Amino acid sequence: MANAPVQRMSQLLAKTLRDDPADAEVLSHKLLVRAGYVRRTAAGIWSWLPLGKKVLANVERIVREEMDAIGAQEVLLPALLPREPYDATGRWDEYGAELFRLNDRKGGDYLLGPTHEEIFTLLVKDQASSYKDLPVILYQIQSKFRDEARPRAGILRGREFLMKDSYSFDLEDEGLAQSYALHRQAYQRIFERLGLDYRICAATAGAMGGSKSEEFLAPAEAGEDTFADCPNCDFAANTEAISYPLTPEDPSGTPALEEIPTPDTPTIETLAASLGVPASATLKNLLVKVDGEIVAVGVPGDREVDMDKVEAHFAPAVVELVTAEDFVGRPDLVRGYVGPQGLEKVTYIADPRVAPGTSWITGANKDGMHAKNVVAGRDFEVEAYVDVVVVQEGDPCPRCGTGLKLDRAIEIGHIFQLGRKYADALKLDVLGQNGKPVRVTMGSYGVGVSRAVAALAEQTADEQGLCWPREVAPADVHVVAAGKALQTELALDVSQQLAAAGVRVLVDDRAGVSPGVKFTDAELIGVPQILVAGRRSAEGVLELKDRRTGEREELTVDEAIARLTA
Ligand code: ATP
Ligand code: MG
Repeated sequence: MANAPVQRMSQLLAKTLRDDPADAEVLSHKLLVRAGYVRRTAAGIWSWLPLGKKVLANVERIVREEMDAIGAQEVLLPALLPREPYDATGRWDEYGAELFRLNDRKGGDYLLGPTHEEIFTLLVKDQASSYKDLPVILYQIQSKFRDEARPRAGILRGREFLMKDSYSFDLEDEGLAQSYALHRQAYQRIFERLGLDYRICAATAGAMGGSKSEEFLAPAEAGEDTFADCPNCDFAANTEAISYPLTPEDPSGTPALEEIPTPDTPTIETLAASLGVPASATLKNLLVKVDGEIVAVGVPGDREVDMDKVEAHFAPAVVELVTAEDFVGRPDLVRGYVGPQGLEKVTYIADPRVAPGTSWITGANKDGMHAKNVVAGRDFEVEAYVDVVVVQEGDPCPRCGTGLKLDRAIEIGHIFQLGRKYADALKLDVLGQNGKPVRVTMGSYGVGVSRAVAALAEQTADEQGLCWPREVAPADVHVVAAGKALQTELALDVSQQLAAAGVRVLVDDRAGVSPGVKFTDAELIGVPQILVAGRRSAEGVLELKDRRTGEREELTVDEAIARLTA
């Protein structure tokens, strides 16, 4: 491969900025904009400038190399897709408001692909006819489109973003397990090479359907996911995916249900205080509307309901909170005093903590009245047990019981064993060894390529700015001409020599910019080595500074070249 030419800051399109962009909330957003890597084009829609494009290309290269290494074949499918295949799997509707839908001039329905299971399934249906054509793993690196509700964290959550998506096609479950294992290994290598700190966590399959699924989460404050880590065993899971077994209790010692007057206690706090019991002894019943029908969700009074979990349970139905209007004409629903006993026209779901046999203090469905000794399975029925509470620090590990530790993280990758959901919907069969058709089983696997750039920025930046690992950095060395003509001449000369030796060089050769500004910019841009032509340039001596550790060393030109090409 030809050596890359020296990149000159004097000619670089993007300018660095002193101030954070006004709308930036997370560190990677601020720094990537300030350092001139990306610019916002519209909400959740980003342009990559020269330095940013280099980093993005490096991430792509690593992803490509590791996908190729597991025998995956790269393809490129369109992003503009016809509606029909997404109708066949139900996702045209199920995807909801996140799907960008559009019409062509003839009024035909199209979408911008949010992920491509349908189209890959059809491609394999078209190309593979016999068991001899499988297994096959296909991937692409392509822009994806999702009309995210909150595209606010810069390129961490775009409405257009770059994803590596791959799909495996196998004849049998063992084959799928093998393709899944190959992806798991490839992802471990990708994230290790990228220099990302990550955990592999059990995850829900969500709207994708299917069975086994794991997420690769990069711990970071800016993350929108929370994962639980067990300090004792190797359990790690997205809190969305934590579920507890149902452990019924023996209710025989619990006296009969008794109603008690509790005036002015419409909240759990006022009730617990007036009865002198902990909030955990009370049962909270949150009312929601699912496709317009009222559903009550029961959780212990000291716990919060995780609406994402409720939504996931009822998806694709739409879940909304009730409003005052929903109580009009419903004498059975007494605001602030709802209890599951006698709620006849309402579906009741509960957290497994409300297991059969457990006894509660809860609303009596009469104004100012509560009931005690209300026993699950005796005084009321639970239609479905769903893990709906917000997981808290210290909750028991579902595997060993130790208190869990919670951390914020960014989802950088996700692997799914889909099974036959898409193959069934689109009738993907191949002829088996015995000449009979066999339904194919699938996996789907994603890496957030553009998101990985932001995740890496989040994990590696310091107060001075970005701080890239070498393999991802936009250059190997940032040469700074700290002075006038003499320094610039030396800086350009050493840059040429480095480039000729295969080192990727960014040189700050800007005239009329003070050394102080150049140093600040070099720190902000975050190339791992900074080589300064400064005071001792006349003697041919430069200073090499490690961006991460700040360690400095004076070196001659030859020594510097030897060091940087080592
Ligand atoms: P999230 O929960 O963050 O919305 P997801 O579960 O919708 O992610 P997948 O459908 O599994 O994500 O997509 C595969 C990968 O694509 C994710 O692991 C993530 O790294 C990346 N990704 C998903 N949505 C976005 C987005 N809006 N912007 C950037 N990257 C994204
Ligand atoms: Mg999403």
